[in-house]
Amino acid sequence: MALHLEQALAKLKMTGVRMTPQRHAILSYLLDSMTHPTADDIYKSLEAKFPNMSVATVYNNLKVFIEVGLVKELAYGDGSSRFDADMTDHYHALCEICGKIVDFEYSPLTNVEAIAAEQTGFQVRGHRLEIYGTCPECIGITKH
Ligand SMILES: [Zn+2]
Ligand SMILES: [Zn+2]
Repeated sequence: MALHLEQALAKLKMTGVRMTPQRHAILSYLLDSMTHPTADDIYKSLEAKFPNMSVATVYNNLKVFIEVGLVKELAYGDGSSRFDADMTDHYHALCEICGKIVDFEYSPLTNVEAIAAEQTGFQVRGHRLEIYGTCPECIGITKH
């Protein structure tokens, strides 16, 4: 479960982050959307409301949220990071056709971290696992 907006706002307040209308809008958009949007997606859906806002503003605000631990960044090689406000342990399934990212629950694979640490001598910070395939909607489209 994602944090509720009030909890997220309380956490920001505790860490001394100043709340602005834009920050509020970006955060509530992220908490509402389960789609793991890019900074560009967020910008496009809020630009009508905040004509002075740029993609860079969105990005800077996201960085603030990441620093205080409210948002996770899922970086991809092509530079199109996706953002997730659900900080609980969960995994992602990624549609290779439409690019949609869907959450699914699976007990955290802590074992793989322990084995990696043992075999590599790394101090393990975490891991990322993604399932690739075709989402139900895209299966429907490609079948017809
Ligand atoms: Zn799809
Ligand atoms: Zn997620």
